[in-house]
Parts: sequence; C-alpha cells; structure tokens
Amino acid sequence: MLIEELRRELPDGRLIEDERIAAGFAHDEAEWAPYGTPRVVVRPRTAREVRSVVRACLRHGVPLVTRGAGTGLSGGANAVEGCVVLSTEHMNTVHEIDPVERLAVVGPGVVNDDLRAACAEHGLWYPPDPASAPWSTIGGNVATNAGGLCCVKYGVTRDYVLGLEAVTGTGELVRLGRRTAKGVAGYDLAGLMVGSEGTLGVITEVTVRLRPQREAERTVAGYFSSVVAAGRAVTAVGAAGLTPSALELIDRHCLAAVDRWKNMGLSVDADVVLLGRTDAPGPAGAREAERMLACFEEAGATWAAQSTDQEEADALFAARRLAYPALERLGPVLTEDVCVPRAAVPEMLARIERAATRHDTLIANIAHAGDGNLHPLLTTQPGDTAARERAQAAFRDIIADAIDLGGTVTGEHGVGLLKRDGLERELAPAVLEMHRAVKAALDPRGILNPGKVISHG
Ligand SMILES: Cc1cc2nc3c(=O)[nH]c(=O)nc-3n(C[C@H](O)[C@H](O)[C@H](O)COP(=O)(O)OP(=O)(O)OC[C@H]3O[C@@H](n4cnc5c(N)ncnc54)[C@H](O)[C@@H]3O)c2cc1C
Repeated sequence: MLIEELRRELPDGRLIEDERIAAGFAHDEAEWAPYGTPRVVVRPRTAREVRSVVRACLRHGVPLVTRGAGTGLSGGANAVEGCVVLSTEHMNTVHEIDPVERLAVVGPGVVNDDLRAACAEHGLWYPPDPASAPWSTIGGNVATNAGGLCCVKYGVTRDYVLGLEAVTGTGELVRLGRRTAKGVAGYDLAGLMVGSEGTLGVITEVTVRLRPQREAERTVAGYFSSVVAAGRAVTAVGAAGLTPSALELIDRHCLAAVDRWKNMGLSVDADVVLLGRTDAPGPAGAREAERMLACFEEAGATWAAQSTDQEEADALFAARRLAYPALERLGPVLTEDVCVPRAAVPEMLARIERAATRHDTLIANIAHAGDGNLHPLLTTQPGDTAARERAQAAFRDIIADAIDLGGTVTGEHGVGLLKRDGLERELAPAVLEMHRAVKAALDPRGILNPGKVISHG
C-alpha cells in the first residue's frame, strides 16, 4: 500500500494522516474551484525525499498535488480525490546568497518576504513582489510565474529564475538552467517549468537572479470619478514613455473594505485611486513623478498630487495589498485576472462595468494597471446561490471580452481549474496539442496535478 511504502521510505514525522489536519491542505484561496480529499499529506525536507514520494506515487498510480502556501487564486493547488498532497513548507531554507554573482539559491518553501529580507542584509533585492509576498512561497511563485506591484518596471518571476532543480513525473531529479549571468546551452527547460503549476515537475530548489537595492520611491496619487477615467490615465502614462516602478488601481469598494477591517482612515473622496511610483534616482525621479502627475490630471483626475507623507503613501499601498482579503471577509469573492494591452485598459474597464450591470453583480476593482493586468473582484453574499451563478456568468463574459481585446485569460494567477476553459478559447488547437506533448514527455503517467491547466484532450 502507498502509505505503508511512504512510511517505510521517509524519516519519521513526514506524513499527516489525520483527516481533519489533512483537510487544511485540500484547497487554495480560489472561490468555488472544486477539490477532493487528500489520501495523505507529505512534508518532505529534501529533494531525495521528494523523489521518493514521486516514485511511490508512480508505482501506485496515485496523483500528486504539490502545494506551497496555498495562496493560489485559480485552484491550482486543490487536491484531487485520493491524491497525495506534497507540501513544501519544510523546504524553507535560503541556501546561499552570492553578492558577486547577485544570485540566491533557495528551497521552494521559502516565503517571498523572507527571501527579500535575507537579500536586504546583503544590500540586494529580489524584485517579484506579489501582493501575497508575506505568505506565498518561491516554489509557488515560480510554478505560477507570479507577478506583482513592481513587475511593471522590473518584470515577473520568469525574469529572475536562472535555474532550478525538480523531480519530473518520470521520477528523475534534474537540474535545469544555470547559475551564470548568460547561458544558452540547450532548450530553456527551466523556463518551461516556470508557470507549469505543478503539472510537469515538483520544484525542489530555485536559483534566482538579484538586483542591487534601489532608491526610495516617490509616490503620485490620483483620484478619479470612474474606473474608465483612471484607465485613460494608465494609457496616458504608457503613451508618455514613462516607466513607473508601480502603477496600481484600487476602487472605493476595496478601500472601504480595508478600512472596515484595519481602520486605517483611508476613506477618500473618490471612486477610484490610481497610485503611481517612481524609483528613478535624483532629479530624473522628480521629473518622472511630475510627468506622471500631468498624465493623471490630463486624463481627468479630480485631484492628484505627489505624496509628501511617506506614511500615507505606504498606507495606500498597504491597502492595495490587503484589498482581496478585506473583501473576502465580507463574503465569497471570485477573483479575475485578465490582462489586456495597455491601450485597451479603459475599454476593458468599461466592459467590466457593463458585465456588472448585466449580471447584477457588485464588481470591485484592483489592478496592476500599468501592466494592463486587471483584478475585478466579483463579490457575493454567503449562501446566495443565484448571486453566485450571476457572478460566474460575469466571470465568463469578462474572459471573453479580454480575449476579444487581444488580451489573455490570466496575467499572473495561472490557469489551475478556473481558467481551463478560457485557455482552450485563447490558444489555437495546434498550440494546445504542443502543451499535451510537453505534458506527455515530462509526466507520461499523468500523475502530477492531473486535471489542472490542460485537459488530456
Ligand atoms: C491576498 C493575495 C494576493 C495575491 N496577489 C498576487 C499578486 O500580486 N501576484 C500574483 O501573481 N499572485 C498573487 N496572488 C496569488 C498567489 O499568491 C500566487 O499565485 C502565488 O504565486 C502562489 O504561491 P503559493 O506558495 O501560495 O502556491 P500554491 O497556491 O500552494 O500553489 C500554486 C501552484 O503552484 C504549484 N506549486 C507550488 N509549489 C510548487 C513546487 N515547489 N513545485 C511545483 N509546483 C508547485 C501548485 O501545485 C499550484 O498549481 C495573491 C493571492 C492572495 C491570496
């Protein structure tokens, strides 16, 4: 039996067999994504132990779902009925920080903020900063190719992964990529693992590129009377050739929800707040902030200013990070993640408003607006099935609109379960077949996170 084999092969304390405790590992943060009951939860501490688990699952034909912190918003880490959930929480060591090569080597269970803190001690910076950085793991970030607030200037997780170690679905422990600044030997298989959502391999170690720490940022805030007007300001910033280090949108529903929770005194006299930041040093930073301010004003801001109060600016960004959990406290929230070309941001925001009206659903908005990555948050009340169905219909319409505008169904949260249909709408049949061919090569028995990302066709 699988569990007896795992008990035999792994050191003591690695298995959680208690059903009630295992249930806590059964799903991520995605609303209404189906999940099953895990047969057992395994918490390995080394890559060899991970390999033993994968090989045991292979021998017994049992599915294996890898889990970081379970903050995912697409159902990617949701348990498949009777599966083994492999939690990386104990593989949380920062193995190395090399200030000369400007890289770090970390276990997959290291929490994003912990890596950033460790880098800061060396005057270094790991840029990818999902709003979940206090909880989410580097393994989860790599497996979803996570984005974040500063990605508008500094790129997403993929841009920082130099190499990684993983156990594939054939039970091989392999090293992919490199630790040199450059290198083009062979196909980019490390890149292939980035964003593969646990369907091609279990990532057991990651080597990430670092940057020197940067200058303090200047913040520009703008108030707008509609999301569409704020969207016009986003397009204007891009058209002006500016490169903000963050350009985030948060609407009054989110600000009010954060305020109710944290009592931060945030309630502002605006429907939408746009928060821009620049980290350009010295006079260049001052000029960029002024030009961003002009873009906000020309797009119709009812009020806009450079923040002189760092605490106030930080509070607004903290509110942006807390928006989703704050709304979730009030009832189930279905989180969207479409990404459209920057020029299409105003039109996409207008279509989201129309979907809200059409489906009688309150849709709050946060967005990594500078990337065109929008997170409409479809809110409902607990137990209201009709409201849930209306929200799900709006969700489908928003996906169709994003594709129609030349966008993508997921900017950063991943396909998981919630975007599988969307993926099939977005990609050509030949490209879906390429996905299936890759899956068949790296996981021929289909044991790794089955049913996620792509159907077997
Ligand atoms: C409040 C909040 C804010 C968020 N903000 C952002 C944001 O700004 N940007 C963003 O991109 N996302 C954001 N997210 C979504 C989520 O935090 C990210 O997708 C994150 O990368 C998931 O990390 P995790 O450790 O929680 O992974 P999990 O949720 O545990 O897993 C995510 C996926 O990765 C796979 N996986 C995890 N670890 C491994 C591994 N070692 N090997 C192989 N596969 C693995 C899982 O199987 C699953 O498919 C947010 C979520 C919340 C709740």
